Amino acid sequence: MNNKEEEQQKPSIYSLQLHELKEWLTANGEKAFRAEQIFDWLYKKRADSFEEMSNLSKGMRQKLDENFKLTTLTTAIQQTSADGTIKFLFELHDGYSIETVLMRHEYGNSVCVTTQVGCRIGCTFCASTLGGLKRHLEAGEIVAQVVKVQKALDETDERVSSVVIMGIGEPFDNYDNMLSFLKIINHDEGLNIGARHITVSTSGIIPKIYQFADENMQINFAISLHAPNTELRSRLMPINKAYKLDDLMKAVRYYIDKTGRRISFEYGLFGKVNDQIEHAEELANLLKGLKCHVNLIPVNYVPERDYVRTPKDQIFAFEKALKNRGINVTIRREQGHDIDAACGQLRAKARKEELKS
Ligand code: SAH
Repeated sequence: MNNKEEEQQKPSIYSLQLHELKEWLTANGEKAFRAEQIFDWLYKKRADSFEEMSNLSKGMRQKLDENFKLTTLTTAIQQTSADGTIKFLFELHDGYSIETVLMRHEYGNSVCVTTQVGCRIGCTFCASTLGGLKRHLEAGEIVAQVVKVQKALDETDERVSSVVIMGIGEPFDNYDNMLSFLKIINHDEGLNIGARHITVSTSGIIPKIYQFADENMQINFAISLHAPNTELRSRLMPINKAYKLDDLMKAVRYYIDKTGRRISFEYGLFGKVNDQIEHAEELANLLKGLKCHVNLIPVNYVPERDYVRTPKDQIFAFEKALKNRGINVTIRREQGHDIDAACGQLRAKARKEELKS
């Protein structure tokens, strides 16, 4: 094996939870408390190399370097939008690329992370699934996205205040890595991002919804619903053929009962497909009495897909129809339009350019 291959096979140091790092250290003849020092270097001082970790012995720094990767992402593109949104295209060690977006809100800076290279869910409107799934991301590759963005914000003394797992990929299809990621960024010795400031979204992998409910983390939870009945949902999202709407709603009720938390439903408005008042009425019936919130997303145009935008008046009428029936609803504010900030768009463009050349 040459050096490059060896380098690639090392796990990312960012994949380890604090207790796992302690276990590794004690198994390697070091003191467990060194783990806190290493976390401090990684997440508070945001070191670029093991070499910098000056309160560790040289031997130990060398040992860490031999066993772990610290750099897992290389910034290929960083684009800033007029509204302050920053889109990053990161290259992974094996040449694949992923995207991460920093969104600026009045309440703080929010990072949208990717969990997989591509996606195998096949939603008919989504750019991320074009080309299928290439591989899962390691927990550390997800953590490193937040660290990278935080480092960019360090320049202006700002902080990442919230994280949404709504980038490329289906987080519940890479469940264990996603969970480690959550625990690492949430840990107070890690990035210390509060559970209530983290949101995970799934297309509806039902067994994992039950598992997630049982984790009992105070994380915000969203489901990509997009349709008020099972026939229409199956047309838009083939996953509904395996995990049907009725069963999905049962899992949702379980989650709400178990955690006491409100759930969010994402509902993309696709012109003439699911955006009529009848759909709003049906949706209100489906969600009646549930502790929930609906987030309406005007469709993001994807050149490979032929969905069209719902006219503004119709979006407001749809919102009103839900409100009148007692459903909590908001319309998603759009950001970063000028920089392909919608999921998978920058990567899709980069992929196409790769295919051309
Ligand atoms: N795979 C997870 C995480 C992605 S979150 C999930 O499906 O929930 C990104 C959200 O944007 C999802 O609700 C997704 O369905 C939605 N989305 C994807 N492509 C879109 C498009 N072209 N227009 C509007 N919303 C889209």
